[in-house]
Amino acid sequence: MTDVEARTEGAAGPVFAYAPAPESRDIVHLDAEYGLFIGGEFRPAATGRTFTTVDPATEEPLASVAEAGGGDVDRAVAAARAAYEGGWGKMRGRERAKYLFRIARIIQERARELAVLESLDNGKPIRESRDVDVPLAAAHFFYYAGWADKLEYAGFGPSPRPLGVAGQVIPWNFPLLMAAWKLAPALAAGNTCVLKPAETTPLSALFLAQICQEADLPPGAVNVVTGAGATGAAVVAHPGVDKVAFTGSTEVGKEIRRTVAGSRKRLTLELGGKAANVVFEDAPIDQAIEGIVNGIFFNQGHVCCAGSRLLVHEPVAELVVDRLRQRLATLRLGDPLDKNTDIGAVNSAEQLAKIRRLADAGSEEGAERWSPRCTLPERGFWFPPTVFTGVSQSHRIAREEIFGPVLSVLTFRTPAEAVAKANNTPYGLSAGVWTEKGSLILWMAQHLEAGVVWANTYNRFDPASPFGGYQESGFGREGGRHGLEAYLDV
Ligand code: NAP
Ligand code: MG
Repeated sequence: MTDVEARTEGAAGPVFAYAPAPESRDIVHLDAEYGLFIGGEFRPAATGRTFTTVDPATEEPLASVAEAGGGDVDRAVAAARAAYEGGWGKMRGRERAKYLFRIARIIQERARELAVLESLDNGKPIRESRDVDVPLAAAHFFYYAGWADKLEYAGFGPSPRPLGVAGQVIPWNFPLLMAAWKLAPALAAGNTCVLKPAETTPLSALFLAQICQEADLPPGAVNVVTGAGATGAAVVAHPGVDKVAFTGSTEVGKEIRRTVAGSRKRLTLELGGKAANVVFEDAPIDQAIEGIVNGIFFNQGHVCCAGSRLLVHEPVAELVVDRLRQRLATLRLGDPLDKNTDIGAVNSAEQLAKIRRLADAGSEEGAERWSPRCTLPERGFWFPPTVFTGVSQSHRIAREEIFGPVLSVLTFRTPAEAVAKANNTPYGLSAGVWTEKGSLILWMAQHLEAGVVWANTYNRFDPASPFGGYQESGFGREGGRHGLEAYLDV
């Protein structure tokens, strides 16, 4: 059931059978119940309400988690305020740095536990949580720990001040990594935090809360309030919050912007995307194929900067699509805890329904749908890697964010046409360019309206590099020196 064999017509050479290589789930200890993390302690919600988080690969319940109501959010904001005024906001940068370094090191020490926990709660392959999510989360804490005592050299004036209490709401696609992206710069700059993880993936943020305890972080500097959208809305609207940082859908981002309009709250929004991955005829094709696969099938396509629109130069379009199909036939879909798995489970039934709806719209509107032959596990939420060819710009699958393993292929004849098509979107988070020609890379990067443009690579992240969007992909930058600005009074 878990070792699904993906084979297809025309696959080049033999497809190797892999023996199962599951990571043991025993290395992570799951509590039956998790409380809210407020003022340095775990406690149940005042109303006693809870919800269940499940393993999307099996639909098995993992744990019961407290659902924070308005009163709990009040207490969390009050705890964050007290911690801010009681010391964290005034502490010398080099003292704050010590805590951040400690958190980073504990993440590294407990990396295996965290990777398994993340794959269980989210459905992503262990190979990705182990090699990407967890190391990058640690790297973010290391990186911002380094800034904590150097804020006056960051280019924001001689003594930049923190903002106060940050209310931070994050999505389910990179639960731990998004928590790190939010907490590390905020804490380094001297703010305290109230973090709201996504309802379907609360466990790694709560694990991180335990790490904060283990690191002796002053109580209240980090608070985690679990719950659904209403909890997030309460954090955003709370009058005691000085800064709102949100990562999620454009729809909710717009609602948040309306909520904070007219208040003195600072706001940064990291929203959706519909990135173009542009392949020119002179591109190194084998590398480009790997980049296309990484661009859209990494993390089941649940990636805001996913290269969901492939723009291929007409002379190589057929070749690229053929090679892509051959490569997709070798991807292994199944048990997220198996170290050989390339494609894990879709995070929720709701997200699966959305992917199905949009993929069906692609077929109905006349695009040609293709997936490698692949048996999906019976339980859990699964969607096969899917490629649409014959896609036109008016198709919904070329315009709307699917947030799943679905690629739309379009073609172009000239660089100008590639740019026009790539920019024909309300989003503007990322783009990819594949060519041997350096001048073309620079020209494309100048003309593509996207926060990040990758050249001959895709989905490459580094904490020192700023990330963020144009247009409906949001505003503000996370990562790098730029990421500090969002948490300083400048
Ligand atoms: P979402 O529905 O917007 O949810 C994001 C977070 O906001 C979740 O914690 C959610 O809680 C909470 N929330 C929901 N309604 C809210 C409200 N009215 N007020 C305050 N908070 C609210 O997005 P999603 O479907 O989980 O995530 C996918 C989206 O995130 C995609 O569009 C993707 O592109 C975007 N994303 C962007 C980036 C980036 O850096 N630009 C990174 C990752 C994802 P619940 O989960 O409990 O509903
Ligand atoms: Mg879950």
